[in-house]
Amino acid sequence: MPQPPPTDAAQVVLRSPDELRRWSERCRAAGLVVGLVPTMGALHDGHRSLVRRARAECDRVVVSIFVNPTQFAPGEDLGRYPRPLERDLAMLAAERADAAFVPPVEAMYPEGTLTTVRLTGPLVDSLEGAARPGHLDGVATVVTKLLVATRPDRAYFGEKDAQQLAVVRRIAADLDTGVRIVACPLVRDADGLALSSRNAYLTPDERAQALAIPSGLAAAARAWAAGERDAGRLAARVRERLERSPGLVPDYVAVVDADTFHEVADAARGCRIVVAGRMPSVRLIDTICLGVDAVPAVPGDSEAPNEAAERSNQAPGAAEWSRPCSVS
Ligand code: AMP
Repeated sequence: MPQPPPTDAAQVVLRSPDELRRWSERCRAAGLVVGLVPTMGALHDGHRSLVRRARAECDRVVVSIFVNPTQFAPGEDLGRYPRPLERDLAMLAAERADAAFVPPVEAMYPEGTLTTVRLTGPLVDSLEGAARPGHLDGVATVVTKLLVATRPDRAYFGEKDAQQLAVVRRIAADLDTGVRIVACPLVRDADGLALSSRNAYLTPDERAQALAIPSGLAAAARAWAAGERDAGRLAARVRERLERSPGLVPDYVAVVDADTFHEVADAARGCRIVVAGRMPSVRLIDTICLGVDAVPAVPGDSEAPNEAAERSNQAPGAAEWSRPCSVS
């Protein structure tokens, strides 16, 4: 029987899809459950939550760190995307990830590559798909390659990138992969901003203005908790807050079905509000799952007393943050 690979991430750094495949095959041949956590690195506590979840549920965990060029449009931040590899590997070792997959671009897209993965329809034509042409196809291609090379039992994705998650769920199902896609809740910083590797670009002033996003989501979530179900009025609550930040240009605010990303008129529990906006130095996205996610807490956020009462009575409490991730 093959020996299972060692469990110290510092010792297992895989550099090519072939190495990844062989590592994973050894794990599976030993009867071990393999978990995959795809990332672009510059790891933060959002990524950490995925790794911890995978660690808790799988015998072996591999985390990929790959700044995937095919999901960046010309003019986006591919060149300056942060790449603190040593720090990332140290974090993965501390979280007891078993392996890191850190391929160079040529290993993922060797010369002569012709195959890409492309979804069609409203899920990929709207919102992020419309704002960043080609982005979701790039994500679909790299995620498919990672799933094919690893053949994991489970793969972990954050609800922060809710549309990406919906795309990945479709890929996993449509291509009969058998991989369980595990969705993990969005993690926020202490000031309410959704954690993102790109937050490092924000100046202090931009960061203060960016808080309009979680603040807007919080206002809408409080309205929802108080009984508002009209999607247009909920979106308007978010937009009102965004308008208070002149440096923030909204790309979209929408209330959508979490699986199809069709816009809804009535915001039932489980629907998502999704927001994207551009600051001079960065584009930000955020989301909340209505009736499920905690209301984002933004220090100094103005909140009417009756709203506060409704929030403590009706909105989900802190326990929601530790709710089990949903699995498809
Ligand atoms: P990225 O490195 O930005 O491509 O993200 C890798 C994975 O981490 C994706 O599945 C993201 O959705 C997830 N992720 C990123 N930020 C967060 C966050 N703040 N909370 C939860 N998951 C996140």
